[in-house]
Amino acid sequence: MPYSESVVRRALGEAEGAVPIPVSVFDEEVPAVANLDPDLLAALRKAATAAAAEGVEFFVNGGWRSPEYQEQLRDAAVAKYGSAREAARWVTTAETSAHVAGQAVDLGPAEARAWLSEHGAEYGLCQIYRNEPWHYELRPEAVEHGCPPLYDDPTHDPRMQQ
Ligand SMILES: [Zn+2]
Repeated sequence: MPYSESVVRRALGEAEGAVPIPVSVFDEEVPAVANLDPDLLAALRKAATAAAAEGVEFFVNGGWRSPEYQEQLRDAAVAKYGSAREAARWVTTAETSAHVAGQAVDLGPAEARAWLSEHGAEYGLCQIYRNEPWHYELRPEAVEHGCPPLYDDPTHDPRMQQ
């Protein structure tokens, strides 16, 4: 790795929203969790408490991200998928990212996702994209009406048409 690149990688660490090791939704120290929208975080913690009573633990693999970190992920996705168009199905721009806004969380493991797909709506927690079963956002209306229909991927989300 060239020197300049290693400097960039180090600069965009946990303070920028990186989550090198999955963390609890109750973590107060890691910016990826601490900087989430307070309503989303409260719903997550409520759901995680209920899930824990059934032996299911939630882990955060991604949450709030700085615009710079989101752009770095975006650049990596463009390199991986070969085009901006294909990368857009997986990683949104800093301008449109719900992660940068603190309004999205990527959760694991599979047991937590299975629990959420069954019970998440009771807490307003909804999967948004069919291709991202780990990505959850708060949809308060889901408590009464259930989660909205899934988009196939972020390119179908009107919020991303910018
Ligand atoms: Zn996500």
